[in-house]
Formats: sequence, C-alpha cells, structure tokens
Amino acid sequence: MNIERIGVIGAGQMGHGIAHVAALAGYDVVMTDINREALDKGLKLIDRNLGRQVGRDLISEADKTAALGRVSIDTRLEALSDCDLVIEAATEDEAVKKNIFQKLCPLVKPEAFLASNTSSLSITRLGAATDRPGQFMGLHFMNPVPVMQLVELIRGIATDEATFTALKTVVDRMGKQAVSAEDFPAFIVNRILLPMINEAVYTLYEGVGSVSAIDTAMKLGANHPMGPLELADFIGLDTCLAVMQVLHDGLADTKYRPCPLLVKYVEAGWLGRKTGRGFYDYSGDVPTPTR
Ligand code: NAD
Repeated sequence: MNIERIGVIGAGQMGHGIAHVAALAGYDVVMTDINREALDKGLKLIDRNLGRQVGRDLISEADKTAALGRVSIDTRLEALSDCDLVIEAATEDEAVKKNIFQKLCPLVKPEAFLASNTSSLSITRLGAATDRPGQFMGLHFMNPVPVMQLVELIRGIATDEATFTALKTVVDRMGKQAVSAEDFPAFIVNRILLPMINEAVYTLYEGVGSVSAIDTAMKLGANHPMGPLELADFIGLDTCLAVMQVLHDGLADTKYRPCPLLVKYVEAGWLGRKTGRGFYDYSGDVPTPTR
C-alpha cells in the first residue's frame, strides 16, 4: 500500500518532531493528543523548528510553508481514520499505549500500518494488543527528531516483511538512517545509553561528584557533546526511569536497578526540561545545577 497520510499520536517532544519530519518529507500529517494544550504547543514548536531550519539554509521558506500546511491537529483518534500509517508517540507506559491501540484499531482502515515510538517496551506485546500484529512494528526516533539522523527499526515476532519494507521506505523518505534492532528491552541505543545515565545519577547520589563536575567530566573526559545529567533532563526523567524499569524487569539483572535519586526526582515531578526542573533548574536564562 502506498503511504501518503501519516497519523501521530502524542504531540509531546517526540510526537511533534515526528510530525515535523513527516510533513517535510511531503506526507500529510494528522497529529493527535488527549491534551489540547500539548497540540497547540506542538504545532508552535514545529513552526519554530522549521524556522530554525530556514535560518540555517537547510530548507527554504516555501518548504516551511508547505510543510506547515500539511499538518493538522485533533484531540480525537477518529481524525486518524484515513491514515495509511499511524505512529504512536504517547507517554512511555505500556497500559497507556495498549489502551490507545485498542481504541484506535476499530477506527483505522484494515490495511493501515501501525507503529510505536516506544523507547523500551516489547514490540511483540504492543503488536499483540492490536488487531494486526503483522502490520505493526517499532519505529524508534531520536530526540530532537528533526536533528538526529537515526531511527531504530524493530520487528515484533509477528511483523510481516512487507510491513518492514514499507516502513523502512518511509524512514528513508524522511532522510533518516535506519538501523535494525531485535525486540529486546530498550533495543540498541537505550540499552547502552540509559544504564550510563543511571550510573551518572548513582555517581551524584553517592556524592562522587556534583552535577556540574559529572557533566564536565564526561564532556571533557569522554568527549560527549552533552553531560549525562544534562542529557537525562533533555530526555525527560520519567522516560529515563521508565526505560530503566523495563531493563530491570525484562532482563532481571540487578545492574539495571534504577537509582533511588532518579525515582525521587520523578516522584517530585522534577522531570527535566519539560517541567522546568530536573538536575538543572531552567527558570533563569542559564540552566543552574540543583546539586
Ligand atoms: P512527552 O511527555 O513529551 O509527550 C507525551 C505526550 O503523550 C503528551 O503530550 C501527552 O499528553 C500525550 N498522551 C498521553 N496519553 C495519551 C493518550 N492516551 N492519547 C494521546 N496522547 C496521549 O513524551 P515524549 O518524550 O514525547 O515521549 C513519547 C514517546 O517517545 C515515549 O514512548 C518515549 O519513550 C518515546 N521516546 C522518547 C524520547 C526522548 O528522548 N524523550 C526519545 C525516543 C523515544
């Protein structure tokens, strides 16, 4: 089936980024979210981020206008009924995602493909919650989507080869580099990245270094473009914790135990950049370390 219309569920950090690159690649895009404010904010961010690409001469003003004209927003899943592919990018919670797919399936056409942008959850289990496991797979974009080149492609046990081929074509048309990963907890990037971030939080928790010492050490000592705590705030501490919990439960190894300090920050609602406070405080002009 020819894919021309893409639905995105969730207009948060990832959802609006996926809508952005899909529209720029010429797809018609419908972005949905249960939260009206998230939709309005997501659309504003697409506008701002396309503007940045114009400013850097990566796209023209006409490309920006055309891409924006291809994006519509809606709070109802019914708005996705004529999509050829729906990419789910809602909160990293298995119950939330399964519930979305159960409501979505009767609304979309039988030949439509479904995908999840989950960072860590089993694609086989999510696919089994749909009425079409053969037409379901993982498309794991990186944050920020318009900038990052990689998309991990994850087949569930039931994913048809035709689905893999069709969705890889979409990723190629978006100008992204695809890498195939097997359906193991957190796939490739987060299986390696999140335990490092969790270890950085332990390093802070045990008093080995302050927030700025840890981030400076990893930037200058390991040549990382961002420190691990800065990166954790950027990803979202709730997402970081959710991925560690999936690794801990799924691989049953104590080396993946989420750091208690990470748990406390999430319990406090200090989720990083998106809530204005995490390991840094973002209320001023310059982020200030909180420990
Ligand atoms: P986010 O918190 O910024 O956005 C999630 C959005 O989902 C919110 O706007 C929320 O209103 C919406 N939502 C929640 N329940 C919903 C429902 N039932 N129906 C429709 N919308 C609903 O989170 P995010 O960082 O964009 O993450 C989204 C997904 O992408 C997660 O699965 C996450 O693991 C994955 N992901 C995140 C990153 C990252 O760096 N943040 C990277 C790759 C993948």
